[in-house]
Amino acid sequence: MATRHCHVLIVGGGTAGITVAASLRKRGGGLDIAIVEPSDQHYYQPAFSLVGAGQYALDDTRRRVETLTPPGVTLIRAGAGAFRPDADAVDLTNGDTVTYDWLVVATGVVLDWDKVSGLRETLGQNGVCSNYSPEYAPYTWQCVQALKPGAKIIFTQPPLPFKCPGAPQKAAYLTADYLRGKGRLQDTQIDYYVHAPVIFGVPYFARELVKIAARYGITVHYQHNLVAVDGPNKMATFENVGGDDQGKRIEVPFDMLHASPPQSPPEVVKSSPLANQTGFVEIDQNTLRHTRFGNVFALGDVCSAPNSKTAAAIRKQAPVVARNLLAAIAGRPVEESYDGYASCPLTTGIGKAIMAEFIYGGKVTPTLPLDPSKERGINWWIKKTALPVFYWRYMLKGREWFLKHNTGFTGDAEP
Ligand SMILES: Cc1cc2nc3c(=O)[nH]c(=O)nc-3n(C[C@H](O)[C@H](O)[C@H](O)COP(=O)(O)OP(=O)(O)OC[C@H]3O[C@@H](n4cnc5c(N)ncnc54)[C@H](O)[C@@H]3O)c2cc1C
Repeated sequence: MATRHCHVLIVGGGTAGITVAASLRKRGGGLDIAIVEPSDQHYYQPAFSLVGAGQYALDDTRRRVETLTPPGVTLIRAGAGAFRPDADAVDLTNGDTVTYDWLVVATGVVLDWDKVSGLRETLGQNGVCSNYSPEYAPYTWQCVQALKPGAKIIFTQPPLPFKCPGAPQKAAYLTADYLRGKGRLQDTQIDYYVHAPVIFGVPYFARELVKIAARYGITVHYQHNLVAVDGPNKMATFENVGGDDQGKRIEVPFDMLHASPPQSPPEVVKSSPLANQTGFVEIDQNTLRHTRFGNVFALGDVCSAPNSKTAAAIRKQAPVVARNLLAAIAGRPVEESYDGYASCPLTTGIGKAIMAEFIYGGKVTPTLPLDPSKERGINWWIKKTALPVFYWRYMLKGREWFLKHNTGFTGDAEP
Protein backbone atom coordinates (compact mmCIF):
# COMPACT_ATOMS: atom_id res chain seq x y z
CA MET A 1 0.00 0.00 0.00
CA ALA A 2 1.51 3.29 -1.13
CA THR A 3 0.38 6.88 -1.10
CA ARG A 4 1.33 9.32 -3.80
CA HIS A 5 0.31 12.88 -4.47
CA CYS A 6 -0.51 14.64 -7.73
CA HIS A 7 -1.63 18.12 -8.59
CA VAL A 8 -4.57 17.08 -10.78
CA LEU A 9 -6.08 13.61 -10.52
CA ILE A 10 -8.44 12.49 -13.29
CA VAL A 11 -10.51 9.40 -12.51
CA GLY A 12 -11.47 7.58 -15.72
CA GLY A 13 -9.53 7.43 -18.98
CA GLY A 14 -12.45 7.22 -21.40
CA THR A 15 -13.63 9.97 -23.73
CA ALA A 16 -13.93 12.60 -21.01
CA GLY A 17 -10.80 11.73 -19.03
CA ILE A 18 -8.43 11.67 -22.01
CA THR A 19 -9.98 14.77 -23.61
CA VAL A 20 -9.76 16.87 -20.48
CA ALA A 21 -6.19 15.69 -19.79
CA ALA A 22 -5.19 16.70 -23.33
CA SER A 23 -6.98 20.01 -22.96
CA LEU A 24 -5.11 20.76 -19.72
CA ARG A 25 -1.75 19.76 -21.23
CA LYS A 26 -2.33 21.99 -24.27
CA ARG A 27 -2.83 24.91 -21.96
CA GLY A 28 0.51 24.26 -20.26
CA GLY A 29 1.02 25.27 -16.68
CA GLY A 30 3.42 22.43 -15.84
CA LEU A 31 0.77 20.54 -13.91
CA ASP A 32 1.50 17.09 -12.52
CA ILE A 33 -1.53 15.21 -13.92
CA ALA A 34 -2.42 11.55 -13.35
CA ILE A 35 -5.23 9.47 -14.86
CA VAL A 36 -6.61 6.49 -12.95
CA GLU A 37 -8.02 3.92 -15.40
CA PRO A 38 -8.48 0.17 -14.79
CA SER A 39 -9.01 -0.86 -18.42
CA ASP A 40 -6.29 -1.07 -21.04
CA GLN A 41 -8.79 -0.58 -23.88
CA HIS A 42 -10.45 2.65 -24.94
CA TYR A 43 -13.44 2.47 -27.30
CA TYR A 44 -14.89 4.98 -29.74
CA GLN A 45 -18.43 4.06 -28.66
CA PRO A 46 -20.34 6.21 -31.20
CA ALA A 47 -19.30 3.72 -33.90
CA PHE A 48 -20.92 0.79 -32.06
CA SER A 49 -24.22 1.67 -33.82
CA LEU A 50 -22.46 1.18 -37.15
CA VAL A 51 -20.85 -2.08 -35.99
CA GLY A 52 -24.35 -3.41 -35.25
CA ALA A 53 -25.34 -2.58 -38.83
CA GLY A 54 -22.33 -4.19 -40.50
CA GLN A 55 -21.00 -0.77 -41.48
CA TYR A 56 -17.89 -0.56 -39.28
CA ALA A 57 -15.29 -2.98 -37.94
CA LEU A 58 -15.22 -3.41 -34.17
CA ASP A 59 -11.41 -3.40 -34.24
CA ASP A 60 -11.47 0.15 -35.61
CA THR A 61 -13.35 1.37 -32.51
CA ARG A 62 -10.58 0.25 -30.14
CA ARG A 63 -7.19 1.66 -29.06
CA ARG A 64 -4.97 0.99 -26.09
CA VAL A 65 -5.39 3.60 -23.34
CA GLU A 66 -1.65 4.08 -22.93
CA THR A 67 -1.31 5.13 -26.58
CA LEU A 68 -3.91 7.85 -26.01
CA THR A 69 -2.62 9.19 -22.70
CA PRO A 70 -1.19 12.66 -23.43
CA PRO A 71 2.60 12.97 -23.13
CA GLY A 72 3.61 14.00 -19.62
CA VAL A 73 0.45 12.60 -18.03
CA THR A 74 0.89 9.60 -15.67
CA LEU A 75 -1.41 6.64 -16.27
CA ILE A 76 -2.22 4.64 -13.15
CA ARG A 77 -3.63 1.22 -14.08
CA ALA A 78 -6.20 0.76 -11.30
CA GLY A 79 -9.76 1.68 -10.45
CA ALA A 80 -10.94 4.21 -7.91
CA GLY A 81 -12.23 2.17 -4.98
CA ALA A 82 -13.36 5.03 -2.72
CA PHE A 83 -13.59 8.80 -2.97
CA ARG A 84 -12.65 10.70 0.21
CA PRO A 85 -13.08 14.34 -0.82
CA ASP A 86 -12.82 15.57 2.77
CA ALA A 87 -9.25 14.27 2.78
CA ASP A 88 -8.56 15.13 -0.91
CA ALA A 89 -7.86 11.44 -1.45
CA VAL A 90 -8.94 8.56 -3.66
CA ASP A 91 -8.30 4.98 -2.54
CA LEU A 92 -7.51 2.70 -5.44
CA THR A 93 -8.61 -0.87 -6.04
CA ASN A 94 -4.96 -2.00 -5.85
CA GLY A 95 -4.71 -0.80 -2.24
CA ASP A 96 -2.80 2.42 -3.00
CA THR A 97 -4.06 5.92 -2.26
CA VAL A 98 -3.65 9.03 -4.37
CA THR A 99 -4.02 12.44 -2.78
CA TYR A 100 -4.65 15.46 -4.97
CA ASP A 101 -5.00 19.22 -5.05
CA TRP A 102 -7.66 19.03 -7.77
CA LEU A 103 -9.90 16.15 -8.80
CA VAL A 104 -11.73 15.57 -12.10
CA VAL A 105 -14.27 12.73 -12.09
CA ALA A 106 -14.85 11.11 -15.50
CA THR A 107 -15.85 7.49 -14.83
CA GLY A 108 -18.75 7.40 -17.29
CA VAL A 109 -21.77 5.23 -16.52
CA VAL A 110 -22.17 1.47 -16.19
CA LEU A 111 -24.62 -0.70 -18.10
CA ASP A 112 -27.14 -2.07 -15.59
CA TRP A 113 -28.01 -5.31 -17.41
CA ASP A 114 -29.16 -6.86 -14.13
CA LYS A 115 -31.99 -4.36 -13.74
CA VAL A 116 -33.78 -6.39 -16.42
CA SER A 117 -34.45 -9.89 -15.15
CA GLY A 118 -32.85 -12.58 -17.32
CA LEU A 119 -31.19 -10.14 -19.73
CA ARG A 120 -27.54 -10.68 -18.82
CA GLU A 121 -27.93 -14.47 -19.01
CA THR A 122 -29.24 -14.41 -22.55
CA LEU A 123 -27.21 -11.61 -24.13
CA GLY A 124 -25.30 -12.73 -27.19
CA GLN A 125 -27.63 -15.70 -27.82
CA ASN A 126 -31.29 -16.43 -28.54
CA GLY A 127 -31.46 -13.38 -30.78
CA VAL A 128 -30.83 -10.99 -27.85
CA CYS A 129 -28.26 -8.35 -28.79
CA SER A 130 -27.16 -4.84 -27.88
CA ASN A 131 -25.05 -2.18 -29.58
CA TYR A 132 -24.30 -0.75 -26.13
CA SER A 133 -21.46 -3.17 -25.52
CA PRO A 134 -18.51 -3.98 -27.77
CA GLU A 135 -18.99 -7.60 -26.74
CA TYR A 136 -22.49 -7.77 -28.22
CA ALA A 137 -22.63 -5.14 -31.02
CA PRO A 138 -21.24 -7.59 -33.61
CA TYR A 139 -23.99 -10.04 -32.59
CA THR A 140 -26.61 -7.42 -33.55
CA TRP A 141 -25.37 -7.60 -37.12
CA GLN A 142 -25.39 -11.43 -37.01
CA CYS A 143 -28.99 -11.38 -35.76
CA VAL A 144 -30.08 -8.93 -38.47
CA GLN A 145 -28.60 -11.06 -41.22
CA ALA A 146 -30.19 -14.22 -39.81
CA LEU A 147 -33.74 -12.80 -39.77
CA LYS A 148 -36.28 -14.96 -41.58
CA PRO A 149 -39.44 -13.73 -43.39
CA GLY A 150 -42.21 -13.06 -40.86
CA ALA A 151 -39.71 -12.24 -38.09
CA LYS A 152 -40.71 -10.17 -35.07
CA ILE A 153 -38.10 -7.64 -33.93
CA ILE A 154 -38.17 -5.61 -30.73
CA PHE A 155 -36.05 -2.54 -29.96
CA THR A 156 -36.07 -1.01 -26.49
CA GLN A 157 -35.23 2.46 -25.18
CA PRO A 158 -34.52 2.55 -21.40
CA PRO A 159 -35.33 5.15 -18.75
CA LEU A 160 -33.36 8.40 -18.99
CA PRO A 161 -30.62 9.27 -18.41
CA PHE A 162 -28.71 6.92 -20.73
CA LYS A 163 -25.88 7.61 -23.10
CA CYS A 164 -26.62 8.65 -26.64
CA PRO A 165 -30.41 8.96 -26.50
CA GLY A 166 -30.50 8.40 -30.25
CA ALA A 167 -28.62 5.07 -30.23
CA PRO A 168 -31.64 2.75 -29.74
CA GLN A 169 -33.39 4.40 -32.68
CA LYS A 170 -30.28 4.21 -34.85
CA ALA A 171 -30.28 0.43 -34.35
CA ALA A 172 -33.94 0.26 -35.38
CA TYR A 173 -33.64 2.43 -38.51
CA LEU A 174 -30.45 0.79 -39.76
CA THR A 175 -32.00 -2.65 -39.33
CA ALA A 176 -35.22 -1.59 -41.04
CA ASP A 177 -33.31 -0.01 -43.92
CA TYR A 178 -31.22 -3.16 -44.39
CA LEU A 179 -34.43 -5.23 -44.58
CA ARG A 180 -35.96 -2.70 -46.97
CA GLY A 181 -32.94 -3.05 -49.23
CA LYS A 182 -33.39 -6.83 -49.23
CA GLY A 183 -37.10 -6.44 -50.04
CA ARG A 184 -38.06 -8.05 -46.71
CA LEU A 185 -39.26 -5.08 -44.68
CA GLN A 186 -42.95 -5.68 -45.39
CA ASP A 187 -42.61 -9.27 -44.12
CA THR A 188 -41.12 -8.16 -40.80
CA GLN A 189 -42.85 -6.81 -37.71
CA ILE A 190 -40.81 -4.14 -35.90
CA ASP A 191 -41.89 -2.84 -32.52
CA TYR A 192 -40.12 -0.05 -30.67
CA TYR A 193 -40.74 0.17 -26.92
CA VAL A 194 -39.69 3.44 -25.30
CA HIS A 195 -39.78 4.23 -21.59
CA ALA A 196 -40.50 7.94 -22.13
CA PRO A 197 -43.75 9.44 -23.46
CA VAL A 198 -41.77 10.79 -26.45
CA ILE A 199 -39.32 9.20 -28.88
CA PHE A 200 -36.64 11.91 -28.46
CA GLY A 201 -36.30 14.70 -25.91
CA VAL A 202 -36.01 17.57 -28.41
CA PRO A 203 -39.44 18.17 -30.04
CA TYR A 204 -37.96 19.59 -33.24
CA PHE A 205 -36.21 16.29 -33.98
CA ALA A 206 -38.88 14.07 -32.39
CA ARG A 207 -41.37 15.34 -35.01
CA GLU A 208 -39.13 14.08 -37.83
CA LEU A 209 -38.23 10.83 -36.10
CA VAL A 210 -41.85 9.84 -35.61
CA LYS A 211 -42.34 10.21 -39.37
CA ILE A 212 -39.23 8.14 -40.10
CA ALA A 213 -40.39 5.34 -37.80
CA ALA A 214 -43.76 5.36 -39.59
CA ARG A 215 -42.03 5.27 -42.99
CA TYR A 216 -40.43 1.96 -42.02
CA GLY A 217 -43.68 0.65 -40.56
CA ILE A 218 -42.19 0.59 -37.05
CA THR A 219 -44.85 0.59 -34.32
CA VAL A 220 -43.80 2.82 -31.43
CA HIS A 221 -45.07 1.96 -27.94
CA TYR A 222 -44.53 4.78 -25.46
CA GLN A 223 -44.16 4.46 -21.68
CA HIS A 224 -43.12 0.82 -21.74
CA ASN A 225 -40.15 -0.43 -19.73
CA LEU A 226 -38.41 -3.74 -20.43
CA VAL A 227 -38.43 -5.64 -17.11
CA ALA A 228 -37.67 -9.25 -18.05
CA VAL A 229 -36.34 -11.36 -20.90
CA ASP A 230 -36.82 -15.10 -21.28
CA GLY A 231 -34.17 -15.90 -23.88
CA PRO A 232 -34.82 -19.60 -24.51
CA ASN A 233 -38.56 -18.95 -24.95
CA LYS A 234 -37.92 -15.68 -26.82
CA MET A 235 -40.33 -13.64 -24.73
CA ALA A 236 -39.91 -10.06 -23.48
CA THR A 237 -41.92 -8.59 -20.61
CA PHE A 238 -42.71 -4.88 -20.49
CA GLU A 239 -44.28 -2.84 -17.73
CA ASN A 240 -46.50 0.07 -18.61
CA VAL A 241 -45.07 3.12 -16.80
CA GLY A 242 -47.73 5.74 -17.54
CA GLY A 243 -51.34 6.36 -18.50
CA ASP A 244 -54.40 4.29 -17.64
CA ASP A 245 -52.57 0.96 -17.82
CA GLN A 246 -49.74 1.98 -15.51
CA GLY A 247 -48.30 -1.02 -13.72
CA LYS A 248 -49.78 -3.51 -16.18
CA ARG A 249 -47.35 -6.04 -17.68
CA ILE A 250 -47.43 -7.47 -21.18
CA GLU A 251 -45.49 -10.32 -22.74
CA VAL A 252 -44.24 -9.91 -26.29
CA PRO A 253 -42.67 -12.70 -28.39
CA PHE A 254 -39.60 -11.92 -30.49
CA ASP A 255 -37.14 -13.42 -32.93
CA MET A 256 -34.64 -10.62 -32.35
CA LEU A 257 -34.47 -8.28 -29.36
CA HIS A 258 -32.14 -5.29 -29.38
CA ALA A 259 -31.90 -4.22 -25.74
CA SER A 260 -30.61 -0.80 -24.65
CA PRO A 261 -29.88 -1.30 -20.94
CA PRO A 262 -30.65 1.05 -18.04
CA GLN A 263 -27.53 2.97 -17.02
CA SER A 264 -26.19 4.68 -13.91
CA PRO A 265 -22.91 5.86 -12.36
CA PRO A 266 -20.51 3.21 -11.00
CA GLU A 267 -21.26 2.16 -7.41
CA VAL A 268 -18.07 3.85 -6.16
CA VAL A 269 -19.46 7.19 -7.35
CA LYS A 270 -23.06 6.59 -6.27
CA SER A 271 -21.98 5.75 -2.73
CA SER A 272 -19.52 8.64 -2.43
CA PRO A 273 -19.99 12.08 -0.86
CA LEU A 274 -19.57 13.51 -4.38
CA ALA A 275 -22.91 12.14 -5.58
CA ASN A 276 -26.29 13.85 -5.64
CA GLN A 277 -29.48 11.98 -4.77
CA THR A 278 -29.58 10.23 -8.14
CA GLY A 279 -25.95 9.07 -7.86
CA PHE A 280 -24.38 11.42 -10.41
CA VAL A 281 -21.52 13.76 -9.46
CA GLU A 282 -23.20 16.93 -8.29
CA ILE A 283 -21.79 19.80 -10.33
CA ASP A 284 -22.97 23.21 -11.48
CA GLN A 285 -24.41 22.61 -14.95
CA ASN A 286 -22.52 25.56 -16.45
CA THR A 287 -19.13 25.71 -14.70
CA LEU A 288 -18.99 21.89 -14.19
CA ARG A 289 -17.49 22.53 -10.75
CA HIS A 290 -18.73 20.52 -7.78
CA THR A 291 -21.37 22.37 -5.80
CA ARG A 292 -19.94 21.32 -2.40
CA PHE A 293 -16.26 20.45 -2.98
CA GLY A 294 -14.60 23.43 -4.67
CA ASN A 295 -11.52 21.47 -5.82
CA VAL A 296 -13.59 18.89 -7.70
CA PHE A 297 -14.89 19.03 -11.28
CA ALA A 298 -16.73 16.40 -13.30
CA LEU A 299 -17.62 15.93 -16.95
CA GLY A 300 -18.94 13.32 -19.30
CA ASP A 301 -21.66 10.76 -18.62
CA VAL A 302 -21.09 10.65 -14.85
CA CYS A 303 -21.76 14.33 -14.16
CA SER A 304 -25.14 15.62 -13.08
CA ALA A 305 -25.49 18.21 -15.87
CA PRO A 306 -28.85 17.59 -17.59
CA ASN A 307 -27.39 17.45 -21.09
CA SER A 308 -27.66 14.55 -23.51
CA LYS A 309 -24.86 12.16 -22.55
CA THR A 310 -22.70 12.11 -25.67
CA ALA A 311 -19.07 12.34 -26.74
CA ALA A 312 -20.07 15.51 -28.57
CA ALA A 313 -21.07 17.06 -25.24
CA ILE A 314 -17.67 16.16 -23.80
CA ARG A 315 -15.94 17.92 -26.70
CA LYS A 316 -17.50 21.16 -25.44
CA GLN A 317 -17.27 20.34 -21.72
CA ALA A 318 -13.54 19.56 -21.65
CA PRO A 319 -12.30 23.07 -22.55
CA VAL A 320 -14.72 24.52 -19.98
CA VAL A 321 -13.35 22.26 -17.23
CA ALA A 322 -9.75 22.94 -18.30
CA ARG A 323 -10.17 26.71 -18.33
CA ASN A 324 -12.14 26.80 -15.09
CA LEU A 325 -9.71 24.49 -13.34
CA LEU A 326 -6.74 26.62 -14.39
CA ALA A 327 -8.61 29.77 -13.31
CA ALA A 328 -9.35 28.22 -9.93
CA ILE A 329 -5.71 27.17 -9.50
CA ALA A 330 -4.65 30.74 -10.27
CA GLY A 331 -7.18 32.08 -7.77
CA ARG A 332 -9.23 33.74 -10.52
CA PRO A 333 -13.04 33.53 -10.85
CA VAL A 334 -14.42 30.48 -12.63
CA GLU A 335 -16.20 32.06 -15.60
CA GLU A 336 -16.31 29.56 -18.47
CA SER A 337 -19.79 28.25 -19.06
CA TYR A 338 -21.00 25.06 -20.77
CA ASP A 339 -24.37 25.64 -22.46
CA GLY A 340 -25.53 22.01 -22.55
CA TYR A 341 -24.44 21.37 -26.14
CA ALA A 342 -24.88 17.81 -27.35
CA SER A 343 -25.00 16.28 -30.77
CA CYS A 344 -26.36 13.03 -32.09
CA PRO A 345 -25.98 12.03 -35.73
CA LEU A 346 -29.20 10.05 -36.04
CA THR A 347 -28.58 7.47 -38.73
CA THR A 348 -32.05 7.18 -40.23
CA GLY A 349 -30.96 4.74 -42.93
CA ILE A 350 -27.81 3.38 -44.50
CA GLY A 351 -26.14 6.38 -46.14
CA LYS A 352 -28.16 9.12 -44.46
CA ALA A 353 -28.54 10.83 -41.09
CA ILE A 354 -30.10 13.79 -39.31
CA MET A 355 -27.53 15.85 -37.42
CA ALA A 356 -29.31 16.65 -34.16
CA GLU A 357 -27.44 19.40 -32.28
CA PHE A 358 -28.97 21.19 -29.34
CA ILE A 359 -28.30 22.84 -25.97
CA TYR A 360 -30.10 23.07 -22.62
CA GLY A 361 -33.82 23.57 -23.01
CA GLY A 362 -33.91 21.62 -26.29
CA LYS A 363 -32.83 24.65 -28.33
CA VAL A 364 -31.54 23.56 -31.74
CA THR A 365 -28.00 24.80 -32.47
CA PRO A 366 -26.63 23.52 -35.80
CA THR A 367 -22.94 23.82 -36.64
CA LEU A 368 -23.38 23.73 -40.43
CA PRO A 369 -25.63 26.22 -42.27
CA LEU A 370 -28.04 23.48 -43.39
CA ASP A 371 -31.63 22.70 -42.37
CA PRO A 372 -30.96 20.36 -39.41
CA SER A 373 -34.29 18.53 -39.70
CA LYS A 374 -33.36 16.95 -43.05
CA GLU A 375 -31.84 13.51 -43.63
CA ARG A 376 -28.64 13.98 -45.62
CA GLY A 377 -25.85 11.92 -47.12
CA ILE A 378 -23.25 14.37 -45.86
CA ASN A 379 -24.35 13.70 -42.28
CA TRP A 380 -23.72 9.99 -42.82
CA TRP A 381 -20.24 10.79 -44.15
CA ILE A 382 -19.60 12.99 -41.11
CA LYS A 383 -20.79 10.22 -38.77
CA LYS A 384 -18.97 7.32 -40.40
CA THR A 385 -15.81 8.92 -41.76
CA ALA A 386 -15.12 12.41 -40.44
CA LEU A 387 -16.06 12.13 -36.76
CA PRO A 388 -13.89 9.08 -35.95
CA VAL A 389 -10.86 10.82 -37.48
CA PHE A 390 -11.75 14.00 -35.65
CA TYR A 391 -12.09 12.05 -32.39
CA TRP A 392 -8.74 10.24 -32.46
CA ARG A 393 -6.63 12.98 -34.05
CA TYR A 394 -8.18 16.16 -32.70
CA MET A 395 -10.49 15.77 -29.72
CA LEU A 396 -8.32 13.31 -27.77
CA LYS A 397 -5.23 15.38 -28.62
CA GLY A 398 -6.59 18.62 -27.20
CA ARG A 399 -7.04 20.22 -30.64
CA GLU A 400 -10.21 22.15 -29.98
CA TRP A 401 -11.77 22.84 -33.36
CA PHE A 402 -15.40 23.65 -34.17
CA LEU A 403 -16.23 24.86 -30.66
CA LYS A 404 -18.91 27.26 -31.97
CA HIS A 405 -22.48 26.30 -32.79
CA ASN A 406 -25.30 28.51 -34.06
CA THR A 407 -27.25 29.63 -31.00
CA GLY A 408 -29.19 32.09 -33.18
CA PHE A 409 -31.03 29.39 -35.14
CA THR A 410 -34.76 30.16 -35.10
CA GLY A 411 -36.13 27.37 -37.30
CA ASP A 412 -36.99 25.28 -34.23
CA ALA A 413 -39.96 27.42 -33.23
CA GLU A 414 -43.18 25.39 -32.86
CA PRO A 415 -44.96 25.23 -36.28
C1 LIG B 1 -24.12 2.56 -28.80
C2 LIG B 1 -23.60 3.92 -28.49
C3 LIG B 1 -23.73 4.92 -29.44
C4 LIG B 1 -23.27 6.20 -29.18
N1 LIG B 1 -23.38 7.14 -30.15
C5 LIG B 1 -22.88 8.38 -29.93
C6 LIG B 1 -22.89 9.35 -30.98
O1 LIG B 1 -23.33 9.09 -32.10
N2 LIG B 1 -22.39 10.58 -30.72
C7 LIG B 1 -21.87 10.89 -29.50
O2 LIG B 1 -21.39 12.01 -29.33
N3 LIG B 1 -21.88 10.00 -28.46
C8 LIG B 1 -22.35 8.75 -28.66
N4 LIG B 1 -22.31 7.81 -27.66
C9 LIG B 1 -22.02 8.24 -26.28
C10 LIG B 1 -20.55 8.40 -25.96
O3 LIG B 1 -19.81 7.31 -26.42
C11 LIG B 1 -20.39 8.58 -24.46
O4 LIG B 1 -21.22 9.65 -24.05
C12 LIG B 1 -18.97 8.89 -24.06
O5 LIG B 1 -18.08 7.88 -24.48
C13 LIG B 1 -18.86 9.06 -22.56
O6 LIG B 1 -17.55 9.33 -22.19
P1 LIG B 1 -17.11 9.19 -20.66
O7 LIG B 1 -15.65 9.48 -20.63
O8 LIG B 1 -18.03 9.95 -19.79
O9 LIG B 1 -17.34 7.66 -20.35
P2 LIG B 1 -16.54 6.44 -21.02
O10 LIG B 1 -16.01 6.81 -22.36
O11 LIG B 1 -17.46 5.29 -20.92
O12 LIG B 1 -15.27 6.26 -20.08
C14 LIG B 1 -15.36 6.04 -18.70
C15 LIG B 1 -14.02 5.46 -18.26
O13 LIG B 1 -13.98 5.43 -16.84
C16 LIG B 1 -13.42 4.21 -16.44
N5 LIG B 1 -13.87 3.89 -15.10
C17 LIG B 1 -15.06 3.36 -14.71
N6 LIG B 1 -15.07 3.17 -13.39
C18 LIG B 1 -13.88 3.60 -12.92
C19 LIG B 1 -13.30 3.65 -11.63
N7 LIG B 1 -13.93 3.22 -10.54
N8 LIG B 1 -12.05 4.16 -11.52
C20 LIG B 1 -11.36 4.60 -12.62
N9 LIG B 1 -11.89 4.57 -13.86
C21 LIG B 1 -13.12 4.07 -14.00
C22 LIG B 1 -13.89 3.20 -17.48
O14 LIG B 1 -13.04 2.07 -17.54
C23 LIG B 1 -13.84 4.03 -18.75
O15 LIG B 1 -12.61 3.91 -19.42
C24 LIG B 1 -22.69 6.50 -27.91
C25 LIG B 1 -22.55 5.50 -26.96
C26 LIG B 1 -22.98 4.21 -27.25
C27 LIG B 1 -22.79 3.12 -26.22
